[in-house]
Amino acid sequence: MKKHNFYAGPSILSEYTIKNTADAVTNFAGTGLSILEISHRSKEFTAVIEEANSLVKELLEIPQGYEVLFLGGGASMQFCMVPFNLLNKKAAYLETGTWAVNAIKEAKLFGEVDVVASSKEANFSYIPKGYTIPEDADYFHFTSNNTIYGTEMRYDPDTKIRLVADMSSDIFSRPVDISKYDVIYAGAQKNLAPAGVTIVIVREDALGHVDRVIPTMLDYRTHVKKGSMFNTPPCLPIYSALQTLKFYKELGGIKVLEKMDIEKAAILYDAIDNSKMFVGTARPEDRSIMNVCFVMKEEYKELEPQFNEFAASQGMVGIKGHRSVGGFRASIYNAMPKSSVEALVAAMKEFEKKH
Ligand SMILES: *Cc1c(COP(=O)(O)O)cnc(C)c1O
Repeated sequence: MKKHNFYAGPSILSEYTIKNTADAVTNFAGTGLSILEISHRSKEFTAVIEEANSLVKELLEIPQGYEVLFLGGGASMQFCMVPFNLLNKKAAYLETGTWAVNAIKEAKLFGEVDVVASSKEANFSYIPKGYTIPEDADYFHFTSNNTIYGTEMRYDPDTKIRLVADMSSDIFSRPVDISKYDVIYAGAQKNLAPAGVTIVIVREDALGHVDRVIPTMLDYRTHVKKGSMFNTPPCLPIYSALQTLKFYKELGGIKVLEKMDIEKAAILYDAIDNSKMFVGTARPEDRSIMNVCFVMKEEYKELEPQFNEFAASQGMVGIKGHRSVGGFRASIYNAMPKSSVEALVAAMKEFEKKH
């Protein structure tokens, strides 16, 4: 039976990415060797990382003065690398979910943290608005898409200070005005590649302004200087990332992806909004087009495990909600075909009819 992969991360990748990665595991770039066993300094792999770098720049229209890095350690490593490199005295953070909470915790190890607003009291079901960003902070940090709670900021905030964003789960789903940002980071395993590589986009002149000593591996300047090759980079995830980037370019780029993502999300949100049984958990104006969170209304609540089973019998994988929200979460990243979203909607309607 066809599987419909709604996992939140690691998550669905395009068939193009998986097929080309599998081929390179057997015979990489005609070398007769596997991508798994070839030097990262070989000319074949150097070509991969260079092409991936320039495709990220092209797709996101990254202006001069920025570098793209491919680092290990996951997005969680960036929670400390950002303050290590940018926080002198004080930083401002928007608290919109678990990942923001984790980022705030790390920043507090380096200085004062001003949490400008939080939606914690409402289980992070919305994005706070109308907050003030202190102008004496070194930077403002936000999470563009809250993977667990299904809320998203699909815009680039205006700030007078440096701007940093965790875009792990919605990078490449909308055009971004990169020039507003100083650091953008994104773990690969939501919209790009298998786990193991994190993309970091840094404005070069944002670096070098803190007084502390930074360990070599945690200093962005090390990786800028060495083109992400200071140490052995995660070669296989970078190879897969390149395949996804090529696939994105072939599809027509970010604007085309965004249109497809909005359309897919609308199909699912429409079904939820018109359902007698299901209800969304995020405030409508802040809903994510990447992670769609919903539960059963009170009077149907006890049917949740049954729907999980029914959906599984129809080929749905990974729709169980995160334990902090409950119910269901359908992650519908770029690689998710519209037909899988339609299959989920059909399963919801059929289940509703039966009960
Ligand atoms: C998944 C995720 C993370 C954590 O990524 P790791 O690579 O596991 O460290 C951080 N932020 C967001 C928004 C995420 O979705």
